[in-house]
Amino acid sequence: MKEGIHPKYQQTKVTCVCGNTFETGSTKKELRVEICSRCHPFYTGSQRTVETGGRADRFRKKYGLK
Ligand SMILES: [Zn+2]
Repeated sequence: MKEGIHPKYQQTKVTCVCGNTFETGSTKKELRVEICSRCHPFYTGSQRTVETGGRADRFRKKYGLK
């Protein structure tokens, strides 16, 4: 028996930076993504979700911009 050669294909918990989590099949135990089907502009139809809650906002705060 030759076990352990192929990584185990399993259900993986994927965590997105937007807070959404979902499961997918992968050989990895955990996955982190910066964009998912929920917050991706293509699916949401708006880029504001990513921009306002993400880097742009933090960037403005960091440099005191309004
Ligand atoms: Zn997301």
